[in-house]
Amino acid sequence: MSYRVRFVNPQEHYRRLKAEIDHAIIDTLTKGDLVYRGQLAEFERELAAFVGTRHAVGVASGYHALHLSLVAAGIGPGDEVITAGHTFVATVSAIVHAGATPILVDIASDYNIDVEQLKSAVTPKTKAIIPVHLNGRVSGMDVVNEVANEFGLAVIEDAAQALGATFGGRGAGSIGTTGCFSFYPFKILGGIGDGGAVTTDDDDIARRISLLRYNGEDRETGEYHGHGYTALLDNVGAAVLSVKLKHVRSWIEHRRAIAAAYRERLTGVGDLRLPHFDEDNQRDIFQNYVIRTSQRDPLRAHLDTAGVETLIHWQKPMWRHAGLELDDPGLAETEAVCREVISLPMSAETSFEDVAATAMAIAEYFA
Ligand SMILES: *Cc1c(COP(=O)(O)O)cnc(C)c1O
Repeated sequence: MSYRVRFVNPQEHYRRLKAEIDHAIIDTLTKGDLVYRGQLAEFERELAAFVGTRHAVGVASGYHALHLSLVAAGIGPGDEVITAGHTFVATVSAIVHAGATPILVDIASDYNIDVEQLKSAVTPKTKAIIPVHLNGRVSGMDVVNEVANEFGLAVIEDAAQALGATFGGRGAGSIGTTGCFSFYPFKILGGIGDGGAVTTDDDDIARRISLLRYNGEDRETGEYHGHGYTALLDNVGAAVLSVKLKHVRSWIEHRRAIAAAYRERLTGVGDLRLPHFDEDNQRDIFQNYVIRTSQRDPLRAHLDTAGVETLIHWQKPMWRHAGLELDDPGLAETEAVCREVISLPMSAETSFEDVAATAMAIAEYFA
């Protein structure tokens, strides 16, 4: 089906940046800089400066950023790691592959972990909390850090959807022990394939992750300091990410303007609940524009017919996928959200005409 309003538009995204991206790729290939070269180090410096940390370490994906953060923090079998029940499966897979047990906590009305329920999830086995900054909104990091300090826990921010978002003026990924980013093509800073990074102020953790991503090898000495992984951020990919990082501030401004336009047109329509939770200390970047309604499925069918492409994150909670072998933690809000949310078109290429057409089709449905 061809949509008149597309959810994202990677061809248009490339068209706008073609000259810069082509130059970065050709220059890198011409120099023969394929693996672990200067372009990677340069992107890491730029990313660390953007996020506000001493280090950024480029890895193969957001999943690897999470997994290597857990391994570097010494988390393994017998340990428990607390995270949100409503997240992308990779957050939980990283915990499982580290050998630890995921403890899922329900979410609050802003779709992020309900920090009021954090403390009661802590047991003597708890070693870390992974707050997930979903849809481009930072979790309640004041409470997360308070609980972590009280019980001596590591805080691994899943900031895969929140590059550039802030809490109390601090950047997502700079508030916990480590921050984990994804450069999956449809994240706000999207690469030409999979990619990710860990940000941290901790020199020791940065070094451990640098070793782990390169099979445990110290490049200077050739010494293997432990069994690691083949999980580097690809060098050509890093060169392209450097190009795109320069545009992220303006993309964030655009996303905020698009969100404001949705808000203006959709306030008071049907039973819609809109994602405007902005307080002075929390600045969202709207990775996703998620609305909530009891009419989700028929509304989505109507939008489809009207030529508006939408997406659902996610159709059912993780524990309802038998293959994941997770116990049902009984999280009522996560269950409800999976039935009621729908994501509207939102990207750097989404236009105000797209918003108008989408809002019109939504109003039509509720009329
Ligand atoms: C995208 C994403 C990840 C994983 O990133 P990949 O690069 O796809 O491995 C983890 N957590 C959240 C919340 C994400 O959105």
